[in-house]
Amino acid sequence: MPASPIALAGVLFDKDGTLLDFDATWGPATREVLETLAGGDAGRFRALAEIGGYLPDSGSFRPDSPIIGGDTTEFAPAWALILGKAPDEAFADQVNHLYRAASLRHLTAYDDVGPVIEGLRAEGLAVGLATNDSERTARAHLGALGLLDRFGYIAGYDSGWGGKPQPGMVTAFAVHAKADPQAIVLVGDSPHDIEAARRAGAFAIGIARTRRAADTLGNSPDLVIGSLAELPEALASRFALPARVA
Ligand SMILES: [Mg+2]
Repeated sequence: MPASPIALAGVLFDKDGTLLDFDATWGPATREVLETLAGGDAGRFRALAEIGGYLPDSGSFRPDSPIIGGDTTEFAPAWALILGKAPDEAFADQVNHLYRAASLRHLTAYDDVGPVIEGLRAEGLAVGLATNDSERTARAHLGALGLLDRFGYIAGYDSGWGGKPQPGMVTAFAVHAKADPQAIVLVGDSPHDIEAARRAGAFAIGIARTRRAADTLGNSPDLVIGSLAELPEALASRFALPARVA
């Protein structure tokens, strides 16, 4: 007899590449941010793009781009040095401000996001967001998508829990959901997501919406899905769901 499944308490989502189409949102946004920062200097634009792992010709990103999995502190200091500015918090704030405005102009969510999140809430699950973006930008994105009130927990790299792959955002979500970490699922598209879930003791689902995500995730997650449309079945196969237990 298999052990009875753990009762799932909540699902914590990564944002970029999981809810948002990464290249469609951050490709044009990055071009605008770099053009603003470089101020028309083509050499500086190229140097900033190289550090960010941004590929101007295709509007895409290298798999190891710090803009994909990292937070602002992982690339802004190097950008500041290229621009002859102090690599300080004020410059990181300026970068976050430029990115918030540019990403809102190009914000592109996947079609399956809204229905799946409604379904999870109907199952009685806590729903959260854990992103290496700033919390303020994350809230602006969810607001623009009409989803802000669907998330009971929203954390960015600057919310006080640390960024991924540190486990703090996942652990704090478990506290929010009044559950053990093993009753929490994290869904994300990068190795940082999987490692954060592991270190917190949560279940790690990789989402491979693109070939790049499939390649970088490899077989490290507990489970890999191709889109959020596959999530309800994946959860039901591994966990007991509260609305069905009650
Ligand atoms: Mg991501």
